[in-house]
Amino acid sequence: MSTSSCPRCGSKMMKIHNPNAPLWECSKCGYTGSVVIKDGNIEKQLRETRKLEKLSKKMLRGR
Ligand SMILES: [Zn+2]
Repeated sequence: MSTSSCPRCGSKMMKIHNPNAPLWECSKCGYTGSVVIKDGNIEKQLRETRKLEKLSKKMLRGR
């Protein structure tokens, strides 16, 4: 059995938006994206997602 969890808030209330191009929407925090957490260590993956978000923000901000 596999579950999909929101990478932002960890909620399992994810619904798929478009079956052709998998885009998930979280009904809890409103996150939309193609990345969801499947099984495994949710807390660890949440942390990694946040790290990546921070990193990409830094890269957007400047050199
Ligand atoms: Zn969420």
